[in-house]
Amino acid sequence: MTSAATREAEVVVVGAGLAGLVAARELAAAGASVLVLEARARVGGRTLDLPLEDDRMAELGGQWIGPTQRAIAELARSLGVASHPTHDVGEALTEFRGHLLRHSGEPPLDPPVIAQVARAHDELDRMADRVPLEAPWRAEDALEWDGQTLWAWIERNVESSAARELLALEAVGVWGAEPSALSLLHALFEIHSAGTFDTMIEVRGGAQQTRLLPGAQTVSLRLAEELEARVVLSTPVRRIEHDETGARVLADGLTVRAQRVILAVPPVLCGRIAYDPPLPAARREINRRMRAGAVVKLAAVYSEPFWRSDGLSGRAQSDRGPVGETTDNSLGDGSQGILVGFVAGRHATSLATHSPEERRQAVLASFERLFGPRAARPERYLEQSWVEEEWTEGAYAGHFGPGGWTRLGHALRPPVDRLHWAGAETATVWAGYMDGAVRSGCRAAAEALDRLV
Ligand SMILES: Cc1cc2nc3c(=O)[nH]c(=O)nc-3n(C[C@H](O)[C@H](O)[C@H](O)COP(=O)(O)OP(=O)(O)OC[C@H]3O[C@@H](n4cnc5c(N)ncnc54)[C@H](O)[C@@H]3O)c2cc1C
Repeated sequence: MTSAATREAEVVVVGAGLAGLVAARELAAAGASVLVLEARARVGGRTLDLPLEDDRMAELGGQWIGPTQRAIAELARSLGVASHPTHDVGEALTEFRGHLLRHSGEPPLDPPVIAQVARAHDELDRMADRVPLEAPWRAEDALEWDGQTLWAWIERNVESSAARELLALEAVGVWGAEPSALSLLHALFEIHSAGTFDTMIEVRGGAQQTRLLPGAQTVSLRLAEELEARVVLSTPVRRIEHDETGARVLADGLTVRAQRVILAVPPVLCGRIAYDPPLPAARREINRRMRAGAVVKLAAVYSEPFWRSDGLSGRAQSDRGPVGETTDNSLGDGSQGILVGFVAGRHATSLATHSPEERRQAVLASFERLFGPRAARPERYLEQSWVEEEWTEGAYAGHFGPGGWTRLGHALRPPVDRLHWAGAETATVWAGYMDGAVRSGCRAAAEALDRLV
């Protein structure tokens, strides 16, 4: 039996997603010695770009940023990563209750239905403003809001069944989870952390306004280039031991002694690491309960964005599925057409039970209904099922179900002895997004630096 190599660093970062890489960059810039241990053979975590020809990429993970996401935008700029406005010219499509509707602005449904959806957005925004971002459990109505799901609130407060269904469709698009799985308080926390509900769902002025080129994973790749040998790939961390003298991080083939450890992995994966001494009960329960939804993201590549000449923007939403949302992800010059699609919530769970060919057929049938027969014949088809990824286990980000924030929220961010928590789930601004991941990495690095001796 060969024994594991041993190394030393002042800080070990577990996970080379955005949060972990940013934490490592901050630590290195402050002169601390740092090692990043990453389970996968690549960096970037929930961002993933697959190469097409001519250095073009299909983005199968996180990709868009919005105007208030200053942390990721500033980071991208500092690394020389270019950005580009998301294509949003032409009419959108809504497949709803058996009808396919073309529209600019809101879908042409009964005005009272659209008015009820808008009123629900406003009401959710008003409640969200009352959720303290640092401590959602301290909201005056925290117990009441955390005692119900987002769906229960929609059912009680939205009269028309069509408006309720539209809101559910939007919620699955935002969280990758059915609104019946989300605590209302969690939804309100994320809305506040993003600004407003509309900011989360819109392209112009919203979270989908801008793309990073050639793809969002470039940010992580550039960070890893800067960090050089400080990033160690294919090295899953299995166990962390710590006491008053320091920490020992045991990974496959490598053991690192350190003063502090930053866990920059989603809570559910923090829960797969063994700790000695064991984590406090509340933090253990967070790791069990803060789970993400289910999302399959896919890209269909065509010789040109043919839907544009039909006057379509490529944006679509569908209540029939399996694809719930699509966007035009072609390059600005229109020399290649890329439609990305999202299969989320119950559709993603059910798609995961089918063979790759059946999945492809089901997805392309959705595209054909929306964009016509040419959409059924892409030159290439790529997909990534995030719920089946061993080192992610769901998308877009972990959320609490009812009771989570009020009972466990206090234990989400504070360090446990030498262990610090980072990752999109621990952010207070743009929680669950790339921007939140970046901010969480900076916060955890500052915490660790403060405590180095
Ligand atoms: C399909 C999809 C679409 C999305 N769209 C957007 C979007 O458009 N805009 C946006 O802002 N956000 C989006 N997001 C969310 C965004 O990608 C994430 O919030 C962000 O990338 C999370 O970064 P992170 O560093 O916190 O975690 P991760 O990216 O999950 O990084 C964690 C890393 O830890 C590693 N790891 C896990 N366990 C271990 C272990 N035991 N030992 C060592 N390493 C380990 C993992 O391999 C991973 O590399 C999307 C996510 C998905 C999946």
